Amino acid sequence: MSNAYDLIVIGGGPGGYVAAIRAAQLGMKTACVEMRPTLGGTCLNVGCIPSKALLHASERYAEMGEHMQAWGIEADGVSLDLRKMMTKKDDVVAGLTGGIAGLFKKNKVDWLQGRGEIVAPGKVSIDGGEPIETANILIATGSEVTPLPGINIDEERIVSSTGALELSEVPSEMVVIGGGVIGLELGSVWMRLGANVTVIEFQEMLLPGMDTDVRKEFKKILTKQGMSFRMGQKVTSAEVSDTGVALSVEPAVGGASETLTADVVLSAVGRRPYTQGLGLDALGVAVDARGFIDVDHNYQTNVPGIFAIGDVIKGPMLAHKAEEDGVVAVERLAGQLPHVDYNLVPGIVYTAPEVASVGATEDQLKADGISYRVGKFPFLANSRARAVGHTDGFVKMLADATTDKVLGVHIVGHDAGTMIHECAAVMEFGGSSEDIARTCHGHPTLNEAIKEAALAVDKRPIHI
Ligand code: FAD
Repeated sequence: MSNAYDLIVIGGGPGGYVAAIRAAQLGMKTACVEMRPTLGGTCLNVGCIPSKALLHASERYAEMGEHMQAWGIEADGVSLDLRKMMTKKDDVVAGLTGGIAGLFKKNKVDWLQGRGEIVAPGKVSIDGGEPIETANILIATGSEVTPLPGINIDEERIVSSTGALELSEVPSEMVVIGGGVIGLELGSVWMRLGANVTVIEFQEMLLPGMDTDVRKEFKKILTKQGMSFRMGQKVTSAEVSDTGVALSVEPAVGGASETLTADVVLSAVGRRPYTQGLGLDALGVAVDARGFIDVDHNYQTNVPGIFAIGDVIKGPMLAHKAEEDGVVAVERLAGQLPHVDYNLVPGIVYTAPEVASVGATEDQLKADGISYRVGKFPFLANSRARAVGHTDGFVKMLADATTDKVLGVHIVGHDAGTMIHECAAVMEFGGSSEDIARTCHGHPTLNEAIKEAALAVDKRPIHI
């Protein structure tokens, strides 16, 4: 009997749905299994999209204060209708997730609603039903919130990122456990809407993995905005009462414990791969010590015909990386030979200002013994930044000392997340800082700071 499908994708997040559409474009008869009532995965339902909608709305609200007044715009009587803000955010999510269902129809991808289990290679059962036969299976089941011992998430007083996107009122005191991207983005949302936000971070610096200069500068900026930090500290337990949460906090290295109180606590200590109920153990699919599925350069697991992509495998846990994985995995299945360079996956923090990074950090270059030159340019010296009043931050470019090839770019600044792609494109083509320095940049634009940082690599910036 012939297979019902050429490919069944399990998981309809950015990795899975993009892979399914690309597979269908390549002529494969494709289905995507998703157990949520809507497609789009973590990213569209409870991640990237709702968080960016709230970051956008809260930034506009905060701007109505000091920023607008500085430009002579008085906005008396600005008030917050949180329920309406949440409804608008939900509308954005519904529009986008519904759009993916439309894309599936257009591309003739079947959406099989329910929980998928691989009962044998080439056989997927939905909600325990009769197995469906398929030539290949692609696992794209994503990730889930990492729990913290001693902290029970109830999504009311102690919330994960999902609960933090749904609060029905602005807490007056909020504690964020974890100074990574999600904690700082959602902490920023609630701070702008009126909460006093304290971030407790185990390490001595925020944003693990980012360039040290960026990490230091960003903390200064957030502190100036009113966020409080307790660095090098850990939360050991949390007690919930009718009025709030009492947290026990102590130095990361051990020591005397103290109590902190909050109305709402956001636990944002990371995410871990999600493979529950997939049947991996019985199939003998190899995973690493942290639960990430092991794959080869074709994204194939150790079991032939079973592939995996996105958050459930190693690499940056980001939507755009999952999408690239998905496209490359199915194109390789179709006999093409593309690849994803994980070193060139941009990392972006969508706060105000934004933080954006691509390629190696200075610490990584030092550790690898690569000699490099650094060019740095502050937005304070960029005319557009001055014209729009967004002068915080800088561009830092790292280029190979011998070949001048751009090895890393790190930006703290307004719209950094958009600007970084100029650098990512140059780096994808193996370009040099001189290539960027010689590229005519429109004036006045924030991107001119990138050109100036490139000039600064060769110690010839013009405007500083
Ligand atoms: P997921 O998006 O997690 O999708 C997996 C899907 O598989 C889920 O819908 C799940 O229901 C389904 N599933 C799991 N098991 C089964 C099963 N057995 N049967 C059927 N279905 C199953 N990344 C960015 O790049 N930019 C951002 O701005 C950003 N912001 C974020 C903000 C927050 C608050 C969070 C939590 C994450 C954010 N991320 C962001 C990370 C991003 O959401 C993930 O990297 C991305 O969603 C991973 O995609 P994926 O397809 O691998 O998995």
